[in-house]
Amino acid sequence: MKHATSTYAGSAASPSDFPRDGLPEVAFLGRSNVGKSSLLNALAGTRGLARVSSAPGRTRVVSFFRVAGVPKPGGAGRGDLYLVDLPGYGYARAPREVREQFEKIAVSYLAHRAPLRLCVFIVDSRHEPTERDEALRAWLDHHQLEYVIAANKVDALARGTAARTTQHIARGLGRGARAVLGVSAERGTGLDDLWNVIRAAAFAPRGSHERAFIDEADPNPPKAPGHDGR
Ligand code: GDP
Repeated sequence: MKHATSTYAGSAASPSDFPRDGLPEVAFLGRSNVGKSSLLNALAGTRGLARVSSAPGRTRVVSFFRVAGVPKPGGAGRGDLYLVDLPGYGYARAPREVREQFEKIAVSYLAHRAPLRLCVFIVDSRHEPTERDEALRAWLDHHQLEYVIAANKVDALARGTAARTTQHIARGLGRGARAVLGVSAERGTGLDDLWNVIRAAAFAPRGSHERAFIDEADPNPPKAPGHDGR
């Protein structure tokens, strides 16, 4: 984002460490290795902001990157927001305890975080969505969270294939999404469009998109995606 500045604002291992300034937040989530760190860095325009690594240690924290001076839609001035790095899920070889960490910290963030305006749900455009992607979608829908699907790594696809892939995702995994965008963290493809969706969600007047009350007593909530069901 031109003219905006990004800084690392800290990592939280528990909800008591989340920021308290009430700025709008946009959360990034996706399977490990999908390019979440690369996408965060590319969006923030600061290389090395989010570590490009999928070390299982990162499953224990939620990291906050403050972007200052983001132009609000419709020329309504500028504002600050947080890009929030949630733990990746679906570590094939990670021990069960590590996988379960996704549930603890990410679920407590997603289910209860008042400043959360939008989730950026990242998938790999080269592969069909996995069962865990579907589980995450069901969970986001259940909790009435707004999300945009960013199908990353479209640079690896032929142009026609990229367009067909995003249409395919829009009809399937992305049917409840605000938008489905083909992006490339590496080449910068689609990042302006993604920023536009982020800005619109982050700075929309509150009210119409207010999150519905989450019914804690739901006896049958969908399983959180970090859970392998075994
Ligand atoms: P994370 O585990 O989701 O944070 O993923 P990383 O950002 O660490 O990236 C995982 C791997 O995917 C790295 O080898 C990146 O270089 C690669 N990668 C990330 N974004 C892209 C992209 O847009 N295109 C391609 N071709 N590779 C990418």
